[in-house]
Amino acid sequence: MTEGKWDEKFRTFLKKYYWDNILQLANDYPDQRSLYVDFSDLEIFDRELADELLFHPDDVIPSADNALQDIDLPVEKSLEDARVRFVKIPNKIPNRDLRSKHLLQLVAIDGMIRKATEVRPKILNAAFKCMRCEHITMLPQTELKFVEPMECEEETCGRKGPFKIMINQSLFIDAQKLQVQESPENLKGGSQPQSLDVDVEDDLAGIVKPGDRVIINGILRSHQRTTREGKSPFYDLVLHANSIEYVDQEFDELAISPEDEEEILALSNNPEIYNKVIKSIAPSIYGYEDVKEALSLQLFSGVPKHLPDGSRVRGDIHMLFVGDPGVAKSQLLRYMVKLAPRGVFASGKSASSSGLTAAAVRDDLGDGRWTLEAGALVMADMGIASIDEMDKMSSEDKSALHEAMEQQTISVAKAGIIATLKSRCALLGAANPKYGRFDRYEGIAQQISMPPALMSRFDMIFVLLDTPNEDMDSRIARHILKSHYAGELSEQRKNIMSSEITQDQVDEHMEVVKPDIDPDLLRKYVAYARRNIYPVMEDDARDHLVKFYMDLRKMGEGKDSPVPVTARQLEALVRLAEASARLRLSNVATMDDAKRTTRIVYACLKQVGVD
Ligand code: ADP
Ligand code: MG
Repeated sequence: MTEGKWDEKFRTFLKKYYWDNILQLANDYPDQRSLYVDFSDLEIFDRELADELLFHPDDVIPSADNALQDIDLPVEKSLEDARVRFVKIPNKIPNRDLRSKHLLQLVAIDGMIRKATEVRPKILNAAFKCMRCEHITMLPQTELKFVEPMECEEETCGRKGPFKIMINQSLFIDAQKLQVQESPENLKGGSQPQSLDVDVEDDLAGIVKPGDRVIINGILRSHQRTTREGKSPFYDLVLHANSIEYVDQEFDELAISPEDEEEILALSNNPEIYNKVIKSIAPSIYGYEDVKEALSLQLFSGVPKHLPDGSRVRGDIHMLFVGDPGVAKSQLLRYMVKLAPRGVFASGKSASSSGLTAAAVRDDLGDGRWTLEAGALVMADMGIASIDEMDKMSSEDKSALHEAMEQQTISVAKAGIIATLKSRCALLGAANPKYGRFDRYEGIAQQISMPPALMSRFDMIFVLLDTPNEDMDSRIARHILKSHYAGELSEQRKNIMSSEITQDQVDEHMEVVKPDIDPDLLRKYVAYARRNIYPVMEDDARDHLVKFYMDLRKMGEGKDSPVPVTARQLEALVRLAEASARLRLSNVATMDDAKRTTRIVYACLKQVGVD
C-alpha cells in the first residue's frame, strides 16, 4: 500500500480520539467493518484536514481507511477491509440546490428513501484465466462498465485470449442502488419533490428501506448520459454513499422556538380557537363549514393506541369527499397538503408504477434488477396523504389500501423482495361519481366503484353536491372573484403603487381570503399538539359517544344503509373527540369534545342518507 498524504495524520487522530471504538471494532470484526467518525471531532483535531475532507474526499477518505487498516492493535487481528465512515457532515445541501460546483465534494443529503434495489454482488477486481497458458490476469473494474484484458499479461504468452472469468478468484462487494427524495416537511408550499440516485456498497447495502428518513453522507459524482446519438454533454448526478444516518422519525420536523411556543400557547387559550382554525382552512373556498371543521380535526388527529395483545389502533382520521365535479374537492385536497406539517399529494390514476402504496418494479435505477418503490402513502408516513380521483385507482391499489388504512403498513412480497413498509398517515381522498354527476338514489359505493369494506375504513364521508341555488351561487361567485382580484391587487401593489388602487381596497379584498391564522404558525401549532398532547376521555364524554353509536346501529338495522355502521364507527368517534381536545391543547377530552364530534358525524351521515 502506498503511503497517502494524510495517512500519518489520521493514524494520530484515530489513536487519540477513537482508540476505544477501534478496539471494539477489532473485537466485532468482520461482522462489523465500519468505524463511525464524527466530523466535529476531526474538526477539533485539525481544521485544515477537516476542510480537505469536505472538498477533496477522494484524496482524504482513502488515507483514513489506510490508517485504520494498518493500525497497530494489541490483539492478533487484521482490519484489512475495515472502513472509516464520516457522520454529521456540515455540508448539508437540499436536493434541489445541488449544482455542478458540488461535484466531487463530500455532501450530506437528507430525505426519504423512495426506491431501493435488491442487494447484489458487484465485481471489484476480476480474475481472467488465459485459455492458452492458464495464467491469471487480475483486472480492477471501473464504475461504469465491465472491462476485459486486451492481452494475456504473461510475457511469453501475450495472446489476445480467449479468457475465462474465474469467479472464485475475483473480488466482489455487496452493492445496492437507492433513490432518495426530499421529505414532505422540507417542501415549500407543496412543490414537487426532487430525487437523487445513491450508490451504497459493502455493509451499507441492505440496511435501509423505502419510507425511511435518512441523511446520506457521500461524494457527489456524475455519469455521462448516453443517448441513441452517442454521448450526451449532460451528466447525471449520483451520490456515492460514505455513511447513512437515521433521522429521528417523530421529532425531526419543524423547529419550534421558545417564541413560537409562547405564541402557540396564547393561541390555544383563545376562546375562538375552533373558529380561527376553521377560518384558516382554504379561505378562498366559500362555505363548507362542516367540512372544514372535520378537516381541522383531521390535521390534529386522535391518539394511536397500543393494546395489551400487541395490536395497534390508529389515531389518524381518514376522510373521503364524494361528489359532483367542480365543487372544490381537488382544491381542498391541495390546500391540506400545503397546510399539514407533512403532506403528500397524489392522484388515483397516477402513472407512477408504485401506485399509491408500494410495488416491486424492474426499472432503470436497478438496470433491470428488482426495485422496491414507495408510493404516496409510504412517503406521507406521519403526515397526510391527499389522494385525488380515488375512483380511478388500480385494483392492486384498492386491495393494498385495506391494510394501509387500518394496520398502517404495506406488505410487499414479490420476486424475492419481501418487506413491510410503514404508512402511518391520514388519508384524505376525493372521488368523482361514475356517471359524472352524483345520483342521490344510488349507493355511494357503486357510484365510485369502491368496495364497501374499503368505504368503512373512512372515519367520515362527505357528499358534496352541486345543486343550483341562486342565492348560494351568487355568494360563491362573488367570493371567487374577490379572491382572484385580491391576488392580483397585491401583485400590482408590489410592483407599483397604482394610484387607482387604494390601500383600503386592497385590504378589503385581502380580508376575505386571508387565513385567520398564518399557515406557518398553524403548521407549528399542529406539530406542537401532535407531539405533546395525548388526551384521555372523561367518563360522561365516553358515555355520550357510546349512546350515539348505539343509536346509529339501531337506525342502520334492517335497512339497506348506504354506508355500513360498524364498530369502526365507534373508534372513529373516539379519534375525533381526541382530535377536538388536541385542537385546544387539552389533555382531557370532555363532553364538549364529544358533542362536537357527534354533531359533525351526524351532519356527515345525514347527507349520506343515514337518518
Ligand atoms: P372538483 O375537484 O370538485 O371537481 P375543483 O377543486 O377542481 O373541483 O374546483 C373547480 C373550481 O371551482 C376551482 O377553481 C374552485 O376554486 C372553484 N370552486 C368551486 N366551489 C367553490 C366554492 N365553494 N368557493 C370557491 N371556489 C369554488
Ligand atoms: Mg377534481
